[in-house]
Amino acid sequence: MSAWIRARFKPGDILLLLFLLLPVVVALPRVLSGFAPNAIGWLTLTGRLTGILGLAMMLLAAMMSVRLPHYDRWFGGLARLWVVHRFFGFAGFVLVLFHVALLAYAQLPFSIEAAIARVFPPLAEWAIWSGWLALLCMVIFLGPTFRFFGRLHYQRWKALHLFSALAVIFALLHAIPIAAETVVWWFMAVGAIGAIVWRKVLSPNLGRYRYEVVKVETLVHGVVEISLRPKGKAMAYEAGQFMYFTPLDPALTAGRNEEHPYTISSAPNDEYLRVGIKALGDASTAIQTLAVGSDVMVEGPYGDFYERIEPQRSQLWLAGGIGITPFVSGARDAQYRQGEIDAHLFYLANDQQRAYYLNELVELGAKVAGLAVTPHYYRQEGPLTAAFLRQHCADFTEREIYMCGPPAMVSHLKSVLVAAGVPVTRIHSEAFDFL
Ligand SMILES: Cc1cc2nc3c(=O)[nH]c(=O)nc-3n(C[C@H](O)[C@H](O)[C@H](O)COP(=O)(O)OP(=O)(O)OC[C@H]3O[C@@H](n4cnc5c(N)ncnc54)[C@H](O)[C@@H]3O)c2cc1C
Repeated sequence: MSAWIRARFKPGDILLLLFLLLPVVVALPRVLSGFAPNAIGWLTLTGRLTGILGLAMMLLAAMMSVRLPHYDRWFGGLARLWVVHRFFGFAGFVLVLFHVALLAYAQLPFSIEAAIARVFPPLAEWAIWSGWLALLCMVIFLGPTFRFFGRLHYQRWKALHLFSALAVIFALLHAIPIAAETVVWWFMAVGAIGAIVWRKVLSPNLGRYRYEVVKVETLVHGVVEISLRPKGKAMAYEAGQFMYFTPLDPALTAGRNEEHPYTISSAPNDEYLRVGIKALGDASTAIQTLAVGSDVMVEGPYGDFYERIEPQRSQLWLAGGIGITPFVSGARDAQYRQGEIDAHLFYLANDQQRAYYLNELVELGAKVAGLAVTPHYYRQEGPLTAAFLRQHCADFTEREIYMCGPPAMVSHLKSVLVAAGVPVTRIHSEAFDFL
């Protein structure tokens, strides 16, 4: 039971819950005063509560965009925090829609004119119109996320976040003059606006480390490993974490000054900070020709890849494609922690040529007690099966399982593992996509 809870809930969730409930609890006496248990009373009450919760969710979504290295682990890592951030942003928007509709419906028993006047009052009631502006900004921001508009371009999606920040400001201008309990909204507003200011203005200067590119090694066509040396203070990190990487090389044809998340493939004790990068789009393709001697800025570390739900258990690592990088870091780290690790890595690749880290990993497997490495080639063997796992790692169902790779591979492996009797709480996976 406790593993079940630890797998689903993180300590930071309590903080989120407190922030979410705080404005509701503070506003409750006012909202309940004069409440009549009839249709109008219920519609008005739920209309107000959805407005309060909706705004609280929008402010919390803004606070969660802060990106503070290490603190993301309270919430299960940045990737999980992003999922919660998206949920709060979208749920806040839906609640605000209900808020408008319910308050208008509450006036319908009086007259249609009263209902319309409730939501479209004279312009002098600017606080209500500010609420409409907030809603408009949310529509502009969230509209392009619908599949109808095609796949969202990541950099455009980031630029659109300006509208979500405007929505938060208009929503505050709507709520603060109307609500009596302004202190709580000011408190949350400072948190939300502070988070945005840190992320957009302060962090690019104060929260990043400058590194120099010392080596760009081509592992296979379309995949490089870049080695970096700190130019000042070095970033401390743990195996399996990732960072935001911003190349400054003026000769880059794309992605210059653009931050992208990459998993750190080196071990914390290695001389250089390393990342393995596969060409998946404009920026990652251009990076394949990054100049040695050029500078990059790195921000982090983030993530909680090797979260230890049950630390005493031995581990099973399943990696596909460029999803091998957190395990390369884990295996490189294992050589500094001889005897501390018991892990079996299955390296899933199309064929031997695409298993670009295999030689080093096999060498590490031979050197490090407790580290085993088995390659699996899709072209030869087809999809990975439980029988293959059992043949090479008899106790695989007893292990804590970590996996990283293309979404289709991850979902196939999850079904294989669950069918073999592994509880879902013991399966941990990382996706290389935040959208
Ligand atoms: C936690 C994490 C760890 C990652 N680790 C690695 C790694 O070790 N090696 C590696 O090669 N790749 C890794 N990636 C993927 C890498 O970030 C993307 O391939 C890269 O950002 C693509 O950018 P692009 O402009 O070349 O391609 P695009 O064509 O812009 O995008 C290709 C894909 O990457 C996504 N993407 C683009 N930019 C970002 C961004 N800034 N943040 C999140 N997703 C983005 C897009 O949604 C799309 O799915 C990781 C991603 C995440 C989220």
